[in-house]
Amino acid sequence: MSYIQFLGAAGVVTGSKHLINTSDEAGKSGIQVLVDCGLFQGQKEWRERNWADLPVPAREIDAVILTHAHLDHSGWIPRLVKQGFHGPVYATPATIDLCGILLPDSGHLQEEDAEFANKHHYSKHHPALPLYTMQEAQQCLTLFQQVQFGEVKQVSSELSFRFVRAAHILGSAMAEVSLTVDGTKRQLLFTGDIGRVRNSNIAPGRVVHSGPTEGESCDLLVMESTYGNRLHPHEDPRPEMAALIRTTIQRGGSVVVPAFAVERTQKFLFLLKDLMESGQIPRVPVHTDSPMAIKAVQVFLKHEEEFSDEVKSMIDKYGSPLHWSNFYFDTTQEDSKKINESRYPAIIVSASGMVAGGRVLHHLVQRLPDPRNLVLFIGFQAPGTRGYTIKNGDPEVKMLGQVVPIRAQVAALEQFSDHADTPELLEWLHTFQRAPKQTFLVHGEPAAASELRQAMIKDLHWNVQVAAYKQKAQVE
Ligand SMILES: [Zn+2]
Repeated sequence: MSYIQFLGAAGVVTGSKHLINTSDEAGKSGIQVLVDCGLFQGQKEWRERNWADLPVPAREIDAVILTHAHLDHSGWIPRLVKQGFHGPVYATPATIDLCGILLPDSGHLQEEDAEFANKHHYSKHHPALPLYTMQEAQQCLTLFQQVQFGEVKQVSSELSFRFVRAAHILGSAMAEVSLTVDGTKRQLLFTGDIGRVRNSNIAPGRVVHSGPTEGESCDLLVMESTYGNRLHPHEDPRPEMAALIRTTIQRGGSVVVPAFAVERTQKFLFLLKDLMESGQIPRVPVHTDSPMAIKAVQVFLKHEEEFSDEVKSMIDKYGSPLHWSNFYFDTTQEDSKKINESRYPAIIVSASGMVAGGRVLHHLVQRLPDPRNLVLFIGFQAPGTRGYTIKNGDPEVKMLGQVVPIRAQVAALEQFSDHADTPELLEWLHTFQRAPKQTFLVHGEPAAASELRQAMIKDLHWNVQVAAYKQKAQVE
């Protein structure tokens, strides 16, 4: 029996892990491959799943096929390796470069969490241990093997795959898997996360390739449903962004933008440059204050093959963002502190995106109490995070051991998503050459997945199910 088992991102948006298993009951005549190997993030009950063993021994898994670098898809790989996995991790070149930044950083955070738990004695484990260390994350990178977009990779006699574009973030791919079941070939498609459709007015500022690959054809589809019940605003964010920045600077204030270092920061920097060059905002200093963001920009610049037309023409015209005048990349703590000493208006882009930690904290402690400043959110703020508290108009927020009054203006632009919304997903699905026999929705909150299922049944008349955690789906 060949089956797929959903070991994560079933009913939640994190922990993506889908096992393709063709082994017989006795064990090892077939092959066991994981598509994605992500970390569970967010609520404690989900995070605890990071400590559970897989239903099959890690050492018996033959390979991992990785769709993209986000930790909710890649962040469990060091743990898998720690448990005995020693096979190849197949990924696109850009994904491998991004994992080289993200995985060691994740290990570092795991170590910090364990240290914090030990110091404050709140873990039930004594001592609390990290899921994996920075060094372990670093070591697992040697297992990564490059697979180019479009290249067919033969994993075993019965399984091959190729990556096609997902247009979600730099390097992101969908995996088309070809599996021989009882002498018959079956096509499986794993979407990973799906980026915005091609229309550049709908997703302005996109820095990577236009739209997910169209005209797909498969027997079984495993698809994400993050925004299965949502509609992104479709207006161009530039006019509103320019107006917000202009008025802040006119009143002598600065703009603080909490942003995730990979992708979102790059997107925002290109939009700022565009607004400055077209005279819509003044040329004030722009500080990218995140060591990880500068590494991410370097990786981004290395992969020209991924650039959108807009980015290509901007780099032709203005050169590398690392050398734009007025744009500063602050790598050291001293650079970061100096920003606070300046009394002149500036734009500060800093991680973490949801204000959970990182250098953005000390910028906010400094700037939130002053009504001349603006805090501009360009990413999703999960309930329970500080970002959510600030965005929702609370009068104060706790950070760095103090209660900080929120008097600065707070605004949010919702257009920056790297995920397709429901109409975009349906538009993409309409390009399929045929209806898959089975479709499983993953990577969505229950309401989002179930609403997308309804929409797909109504619009396409496909056989669609919402995947359940640990459910096994036979490949028919
Ligand atoms: Zn993603």
